[in-house]
Amino acid sequence: MSASTAAAAQTICCPLPVLGRDVTVPLVTGGEVTYAALDYAASAPALQRVWDDVAAYAPYYGSVHRGAGYLSQLSTDLFENARRTVAEFLDCRDTDQVVFTRSTTDSLNLLAAALPADCQVFVFETEHHASLLPWRDARVTYLNAPRTPRQAVETLERALADRTASNQEVYGPALVCVTGASNVTGELWPVRELAAAAHAHGARIVLDAAQLAPHHPVSVQDLDVDWVAFSGHKLYAPFGSGVLAGRADWLREAEPYLAGGGASRKVSRREDGGVDVEWHESAARHEAGSPNVIGAYSIASACKALTEAGFDDLVAREQYLIDKVRAGLAEVPEVRILSLFGDDAPRVGVISFVVDGWNSSHFAAALSAEYGIGVRDGLFCAHPLVRTLLGSDPQTQGECGAPEAAPGEKSLNAIRVSFGAGT
Ligand code: PLP
Repeated sequence: MSASTAAAAQTICCPLPVLGRDVTVPLVTGGEVTYAALDYAASAPALQRVWDDVAAYAPYYGSVHRGAGYLSQLSTDLFENARRTVAEFLDCRDTDQVVFTRSTTDSLNLLAAALPADCQVFVFETEHHASLLPWRDARVTYLNAPRTPRQAVETLERALADRTASNQEVYGPALVCVTGASNVTGELWPVRELAAAAHAHGARIVLDAAQLAPHHPVSVQDLDVDWVAFSGHKLYAPFGSGVLAGRADWLREAEPYLAGGGASRKVSRREDGGVDVEWHESAARHEAGSPNVIGAYSIASACKALTEAGFDDLVAREQYLIDKVRAGLAEVPEVRILSLFGDDAPRVGVISFVVDGWNSSHFAAALSAEYGIGVRDGLFCAHPLVRTLLGSDPQTQGECGAPEAAPGEKSLNAIRVSFGAGT
């Protein structure tokens, strides 16, 4: 073992303690084993620190933006401070808005509902369904899977150039939606270059950072993206909370995502019997209903914990784990790791593979039942991408997560291990 590997190994042990590290689970072979959570890409365990922060606050929580009492005032402050913490975590512009949502899926659907008229959306077919599907009411151009990051940029540039050329300078708004790190291959996408291409052609870009934000720092300004979306439960914060952060203008001009209290500034009856509404122009416009203060607070707590731990160290530790897992898998001749951009592509701790002669669902079930290792099998809500990587015929595919091929047959779905700062 080299000196640097030894140093990495010494510090490898869980830089950010998470809940559930001591949980034991029964094995089919008898006895119990400490559970190995290797499905962070689906939902990461909550950080102990987040849990402690939430427990300390829990006796004090009250309604947000709706009460004169001390606890309501306190909760309103914590909610608004959480917004500021997230803005700092994402290095937002001063003019950006941070909207608390339920999840990345919710954030992207909110943006889809806020698109200006005639907006054209560009999205790679390789996206997670949360980034692929919300735009279907708009004019969408689906871009073919690139095989290198450079090809991704060129593909987008070509599509955007076609749009402007064909409309002879009279073209409406456009949005590019791209993931920062794939939930299937873990590979990083060339976000900065894609953002530059989008802006050069008068388009905007939203970054799906669901898999990127838990592993790497995300700077809105440095990447020059217009919006970022991520989920609390993948960022070591439990509870149903997410974020959409970015440019205020489209959000301010759109109809509220949900109509209701909190989003409305003034509501009055009209003489004709109807109702007039003045909506807020702030983030509250899209946060109707009583806000999820614990969700926002736990996201902010996780953002602080990751920032304080330092992404340089977290990335180095994770790279050590990635190399170790990939090297271990490479020793098994039956294993094929799925990759779009190749072995050398920079990646996060998300690794999908198939095992020749094994049905992936049976394999994953056996890892759980016989070894207490929790992974995921299926098509990972990215059906077109996984099918491309497996080289399989879409017509023969089953549903996400369904057992498909029998042992010995060609795999129709895959196995995914994923980990991060809490591993
Ligand atoms: N985008 C990516 C890249 C994801 O991996 C996921 C979830 O796995 C999502 C979006 C959707 O996240 P959520 O289920 O929290 O809405």
